[in-house]
Amino acid sequence: MSKIRVMDENLANKIAAGEVVEKCSSIVKELTENSVDAGATEIQVHLRDGGLTSISVIDNGSGMDESDAKLAFQRHATSKLYKDDDLFFIDTLGFRGEALPSIASVSHVALKTSTGDVGTYLEIEGGKLIVCENADARKGTILSIDHLFYNTPARLKYLKSEQSELGSCVSFIERFALAHPHVAFTLINDDRTLVKTSGSSNLLKTIHEVYGLSISSKMLEVRASNDDFDLYGYICKPEVLKSNRNHMIVIVNGRVIRNLDILRAINDAYYTYKPDIKYPVVVLKIDTDPTLIDVNIHPTKQDIKINKMNVLYELIVSTIKEALYQNLLIPDAVERMSNYNPVKQKVMESIVKEQDEVYEKAESVQATFDFSEERKKEDDSPIIYNQEMKTLKLYPVGLAHGTYIIAENEEGVYLIDQHAAQERVNYERNMKFLKGKEVATTTLLFPITIELSNSEFLKLKEQEEILQDMGFGIEEFGVNTFVFKSHPTWLLEGHEEESIRKIIDLIIGGLNGFDRVKFNESIAITLACKMSIKANMHISHEAQEELLNELCMCDNPYNCPHGRPTIIKFSIYDLERMFKRAMN
Ligand code: ZN
Ligand code: ZN
Repeated sequence: MSKIRVMDENLANKIAAGEVVEKCSSIVKELTENSVDAGATEIQVHLRDGGLTSISVIDNGSGMDESDAKLAFQRHATSKLYKDDDLFFIDTLGFRGEALPSIASVSHVALKTSTGDVGTYLEIEGGKLIVCENADARKGTILSIDHLFYNTPARLKYLKSEQSELGSCVSFIERFALAHPHVAFTLINDDRTLVKTSGSSNLLKTIHEVYGLSISSKMLEVRASNDDFDLYGYICKPEVLKSNRNHMIVIVNGRVIRNLDILRAINDAYYTYKPDIKYPVVVLKIDTDPTLIDVNIHPTKQDIKINKMNVLYELIVSTIKEALYQNLLIPDAVERMSNYNPVKQKVMESIVKEQDEVYEKAESVQATFDFSEERKKEDDSPIIYNQEMKTLKLYPVGLAHGTYIIAENEEGVYLIDQHAAQERVNYERNMKFLKGKEVATTTLLFPITIELSNSEFLKLKEQEEILQDMGFGIEEFGVNTFVFKSHPTWLLEGHEEESIRKIIDLIIGGLNGFDRVKFNESIAITLACKMSIKANMHISHEAQEELLNELCMCDNPYNCPHGRPTIIKFSIYDLERMFKRAMN
């Protein structure tokens, strides 16, 4: 029986053919998805000039017989879908079977395919079959496309530069390989191999093959489940950060997707483990009931919508946070050798900006999505204690440049940024007080008067109870002036007025209403910075000892609240290697 069915007209219309081929990587995507659907375990992609001259995909999949091969190039023919609703219950990847006839209508296609019996060779030009003959019986399919858009020159100009087209092909194959670790992928451009995976079925090994040792050696496994979702994958230690979101790879039910809510969950889980403008490397597989997914956007896009996003958000955040808490994350000062391909690196740099703009655009559209409720819940979540670091003992041996504490233990030598470290300690302390139910207050011997402008005074008067909740005793005092008679005890002595002014700034500066969680965060961070020893201040040995002990007791001892590192390590091994004491 023929595997290819004629597709319902309605669905065909939904899949607007003109948008199927946006760039060379859309063809690579279509062809390789077909290969995976055909059960291939080995897929080779050969490009000439980034795909602009030609694209060939060779697989060892099930292949087609002659009639299926011919039918695959007819409009509205697809083996993968039968009716409209099926779009929502996809278990094959290439649900756009429509793409092949579209591609064939604007290019020259050569197809050699066999199910293992007689092989078939077809050539199609501008959608017309020009050659059909028998071929050898090697099981699998070879599909080559050249002269893309030869008959629609107006479309040709939409293709980008060779570097850019190649970049998006590499980026696609990398993600696709990570989604299918059981398939061996090779991508070759002009005889240079840019991607090669072994099809080992091992995700970490695939990450290694795609990103190299410098990343794969710094990944942490995550795994979690609840009633609706199963998570599995790898997240990077905070020392491996990228300046764009291209390395946050999300795979839902076997397909690489783009979903800003999921990216936001990943990003929120790294809160204060990294600066806001840096992004982690994450490969996260999510499996769920297909009824919880809406593929409600054009099928060439990877965007999907997830029902029960709040549940998924909680699961992702708690799972990643736990992995970060439970591992020792002190970065090694000495980088391991990287096997990352420099040619590929150059290619990838050319598309980074382009892809990031896609996220930024989508994010501004989506900015209306409100997560404040989730944030509040997250704020009450129990703290998971960082046992690894708490058992670590660091002995200070001196201070360099009045800035870095030099410390040691049996495993190596450490440098600690004293400001960043104390900022972390103070931040966690401030957060504890700000979240606490009971507030201890101190009465000021000399009340502090704060004079404001008329509009500031009115704004603050409106939100007076925020200050009262925090433990400030305040009264109006003449024109546009408040007098502070008591303050929460945890404010740093000698910095009371400065702290009060900072808090007032944050209250009246809040746009679109007051968000308690964000407010507490800002207060905790701002005051932590003010309360901390600055660089170029020489602190005593005892003070160093105390600071290191306090740092080790923090929930995240590795980063200041702005995400900068607090501590780096030179392991004994690295030191011996650098001093040539160990000769390997
Ligand atoms: Zn600071
Ligand atoms: Zn900082």
